[in-house]
Amino acid sequence: MIDYHMHLEKGPFSTEWWEKFYQREVENGIEECGISEHAHRFREARGIYDHLPYTEKWCDSSLEEYVDFVTQLKKDYPVKLGIEMDYLPEKESEIKDFLMRYDVFDYVLGSVHWLQSGFGFDIDPNDPRWSNDLEEIFFDYFDRVKRAIHSGLFDIIAHIDLIKLWGVPLPAHIDDIYMDMGRIISASSAALEINTSGLRRPVKEIYPSPRFLKTISQFDVPITFGSDAHLPEDAGRFIRDACTLAKELGFKTILTFNKRKPAPVLLT
Ligand SMILES: [Zn+2]
Ligand SMILES: [Zn+2]
Repeated sequence: MIDYHMHLEKGPFSTEWWEKFYQREVENGIEECGISEHAHRFREARGIYDHLPYTEKWCDSSLEEYVDFVTQLKKDYPVKLGIEMDYLPEKESEIKDFLMRYDVFDYVLGSVHWLQSGFGFDIDPNDPRWSNDLEEIFFDYFDRVKRAIHSGLFDIIAHIDLIKLWGVPLPAHIDDIYMDMGRIISASSAALEINTSGLRRPVKEIYPSPRFLKTISQFDVPITFGSDAHLPEDAGRFIRDACTLAKELGFKTILTFNKRKPAPVLLT
């Protein structure tokens, strides 16, 4: 069992803070962890985020410090160095440059957190933009996910239906979207992340939802797991259940990564 999605950002890069996460991972049966700090934390990624609000207060950590910290941890723990990178269609070339320049990661998670005109939809359920046409919001979101997959920039597509997080009603044609996504991701080299953090959100459901997962299971798609923990208590949480569900639905392959080279492992 793997947990390739967690964030240490609420504490320092210290072994003491990491140990709190790791203990919970072990208790939850996780055999390999991956730390995936948000790219928006790092000064080195500022050029990717300079058109968005929040950037000033976010991009203030040192990437080098992060890389050195995880490299040290690797000597004593089964841990991978990951990064969660936002997909921003207008910044594709900057993202590509960043990933080429800092060729240090074991894997790159690709995430959509931002919609048209800088709408960070997962920040505030009371954002007035949530009263816009929901069909359009969903269309914009999944269009970006599609482009993220097609860009080929990412090893893993994270929380593929994050857009539902506040428990909003789903559009009537959602099953067509699921089918479309299944087809697109299976034709790509990216793995699909099963992310358990939706269980902590108002929607109270994993990403992708069991219904979405069932649709994707018709295609041959490799998977990874992630708790998206930002606090130790959430590290590795519900991964065992997600694993059981994935097996029941017929998923067969987990991808592990080393320096962005995937190694398939049979889901048993
Ligand atoms: Zn995310
Ligand atoms: Zn995350």
